[in-house]
Amino acid sequence: MLPDPPASRAKDNPWPQFPRVMKVDYGHAEVQVVHGKDPREYQILSKEFVSNGAGAVKGINTVKVEWTKDDKDRWQMKEIPGTERFFPADLVLLSMGFLGPENDVIKALNVKQDSRTNISTSPGRYCTNIPNVFAAGDCRRGQSLIVWGINEGRQAAREIDLYLMGNTRLPVTGGIERRPLEALEMNHELMQTVSA
Ligand SMILES: Cc1cc2nc3c(=O)[nH]c(=O)nc-3n(C[C@H](O)[C@H](O)[C@H](O)COP(=O)(O)OP(=O)(O)OC[C@H]3O[C@@H](n4cnc5c(N)ncnc54)[C@H](O)[C@@H]3O)c2cc1C
Repeated sequence: MLPDPPASRAKDNPWPQFPRVMKVDYGHAEVQVVHGKDPREYQILSKEFVSNGAGAVKGINTVKVEWTKDDKDRWQMKEIPGTERFFPADLVLLSMGFLGPENDVIKALNVKQDSRTNISTSPGRYCTNIPNVFAAGDCRRGQSLIVWGINEGRQAAREIDLYLMGNTRLPVTGGIERRPLEALEMNHELMQTVSA
């Protein structure tokens, strides 16, 4: 819906801010070579998914929009008459970002959720308010990174092992196996012998 970003930094976006400029990824470049045009559409509004009459989509009706400031200096979006366009499509993917975990199972089990609809657990813990139900990764901490997914998966496994077996030998974050004191003393004696 917004205009395309500028080719170089705008005045209100100086270094060291993240540059909000037009980026061309290899996928955009490939489409441009094959079809002669960058595939991205800006300042456009989806108005309606058009049915093929047999339960599937056949395209989208769109219209171009423009942004102007009102008398109170607030941006207003207006549809531009005469710019209506139909895009044929067999499949429409909605790219909307992370909107929280799917609710069906969470609601069915009455699992407690936080204000962003993620599954709620105590800090540093992975058990939920429902016995036998544990949560880890994006569904617990919100949209995040693979490393957190791996870390939380392992920590949750440890907590589950402890819960089921009463003890665990699964690794803990930052856990370092400590040498027994005798081994340290033996090492100290050995070093003294070597230096003598
Ligand atoms: C487009 C995109 C790009 C990303 N790029 C990066 C990146 O470059 N680097 C990075 O570190 N992270 C990236 N991430 C984030 C990363 O993918 C996630 O943080 C990570 O996958 C979270 O792992 P997870 O195991 O918590 O959840 P998920 O990987 O989402 O796994 C959850 C699993 O549960 C399954 N599931 C859901 N409901 C049910 C059910 N009712 N029954 C059974 N199974 C169910 C799902 O099918 C899924 O397989 C990206 C994410 C996206 C969407």
